[in-house]
Amino acid sequence: MADILDGLIEARSREDAAVDLHDPRTFLAQAVRRRNSDELSAIAEAKRFRERLIGDAAFRTALRSKGSALAHNYERYRPLWDQELGHSVWHSEALDGWPEVRLWKAWHEDLVRFRDLMTAYPSRYGTQPAFTAWRQRQAARAASELGPMHVAITHPAVAYELASGCSVGCWFCGISAQSFSESASYEEHGQLWRQILAAVTDQLGPTARTGFCYWGTDPADTPDYDRFLADHGRVTGWIPQTTTAAPLRDIGLTRRVLSLSTPGEPVLNRFSVLSPRQLHQIFEAFTPLDLLLVELVPQMRGSLMPKARAGRALARETAQPERDLSLSEAATTIACVSGFLINLPERRIRLIAPCKADTHCPDGYRTFADVHFADAAELPDVLDALIADHMPEELPSSLPLGFRHDLGVRVEAGAIRLENDASIHTVSGYPFLPQLASLLTDDPRSVGATIEAMVASGANFFDVHGLLTELYDSGLIEPLHPLPARPMVLRA
Ligand code: SF4
Repeated sequence: MADILDGLIEARSREDAAVDLHDPRTFLAQAVRRRNSDELSAIAEAKRFRERLIGDAAFRTALRSKGSALAHNYERYRPLWDQELGHSVWHSEALDGWPEVRLWKAWHEDLVRFRDLMTAYPSRYGTQPAFTAWRQRQAARAASELGPMHVAITHPAVAYELASGCSVGCWFCGISAQSFSESASYEEHGQLWRQILAAVTDQLGPTARTGFCYWGTDPADTPDYDRFLADHGRVTGWIPQTTTAAPLRDIGLTRRVLSLSTPGEPVLNRFSVLSPRQLHQIFEAFTPLDLLLVELVPQMRGSLMPKARAGRALARETAQPERDLSLSEAATTIACVSGFLINLPERRIRLIAPCKADTHCPDGYRTFADVHFADAAELPDVLDALIADHMPEELPSSLPLGFRHDLGVRVEAGAIRLENDASIHTVSGYPFLPQLASLLTDDPRSVGATIEAMVASGANFFDVHGLLTELYDSGLIEPLHPLPARPMVLRA
C-alpha cells in the first residue's frame, strides 16, 4: 500500500509538493483548493446529476427512453448515463470532448486517493506497535474473506456510539442495530466524553483521529451531536466524518455538523437516502455546492446500488428466499472498524473487526472482546488489558492454530492452495508443505508443538517458524479457539 501511495503522491503537481500529502485531510483540502469556483460548481452539478441517475429509477427510465427531451438536456453528461458511450470513452482521450465529465472523473479519482490515504493513515502514524500489527492482520484477513470489495474499507481505529440503538430502523441494516432507547446529553456526558477521547488518544496517538461517532446509532438521535464532534476535533485534531440516514429530521443540527467542515480542515460526510422522495427533499434543502463534500448513499428501492448481504438484509433473505431482495453479491459487510467500539451512555467497549457476514458472524464483524468500564479513570487499564490479551506481537504460543474456517485446503504439486468464494491463496517454495497442511488441518496443535513435529521430520526450524509467522500475519491461520472475552475486573 505504501508504495502505491508514494507513487501517487510523487505524481502530484509541484504546487502540492510542500505539504504533507500523506495526511488525507490535507490532501482533500488541496483537492478543493486546486480547483477554481467554476470547476467546483461544475463538479457539484455533475455529482447531483449522478445521484439522481443512480437513486431515481423514474428519472433513469425517462432519460434513456427514445426521443427523450431529458436526454437533450443532459447531453453534456452523456458518458455518465449512456452505458455504451461511457464504456468506450471513460478511459480514453475522447473524454476531452466532455469537459464536465472529465472534471467529475478527476474529482472522483481524488476521492479514491483520499480514501486510500485514510486507509494507510493508522499504520503510517500508529504509535502502538501491537495495535498496528493486530489491525494489519485483521485487514489482511478481511481482504481474504471479502475479495475485491475490501478496498472500500478504510479500517478506522475506533468508533463511538453516543446513543443506545437507532430510531431509523432500516429493514436492511447491515449491522442489525437495536431499537433506540436513549441518547447521551452533552450536559450529562460531556466530561466523560472528553476524558474518553483523551484516554484513547493517549493510547493510540494520531490513529485516534480516524474515530467517528456512530455505529448501530444515527447521529440524528443525539441532539447534542455537533458538540460531541467539536470536542473530538479539539482533543484529537480531526472533526470526525458523519453518516446519517435522517439529515432532514433536525436540519439545524445537520447544518451545524456540515459547518464543522472548513476549507482548511474539510470533512467528507455522508447522507444515506432511504427513498426517492427523501432524495428530492435533500435536493430542495441543499444546493449542489452545499453537498460537494457530502456523499449521498442511495439506499432506496430502485437504486442502482444493491444492499450489502449482511445483518437484517441477510436475515430477511434467509427467512424469505422466495423474495427478490437483489442483495449485492460482492458487498458482504458494511462494517469498517478494526479496533475499538465504545458506547458512551452504556460505558461499554468492544474490540471488533470486519468480516464476511455469514451464520457465524451475521452482522459482518467479529467481536473479540466486550466489556464495561466504570469511569474514565479505568479506561486506560481496560485498553491496556485488551491490547495485552488480544494483540500478541508474535505468534501466540499456547493455543492451537489452524486455517481459517472459511478456507478450503488442498495440496497440489507440493503447494498449499487455500480457497474461499472471494480469494485464492497459494503457498509454495518449501518441501514440507504437504506435511504442514496435514498437521494444521487434521491435528492442530500449538505453535511450539507444530514446529517441534515439523523439525522432527527434518524441516528447518527457521523456515517453519518464518512461514507460520507469515501465514499468521496474512490472516490465513489463526487460533482455533477465540481468545476468552474474560470479564474484566480491574479493581478489587
Ligand atoms: S442502517 Fe444506520 S440508520 Fe439504518 S437502522 Fe442501521 S444504524 Fe440505523
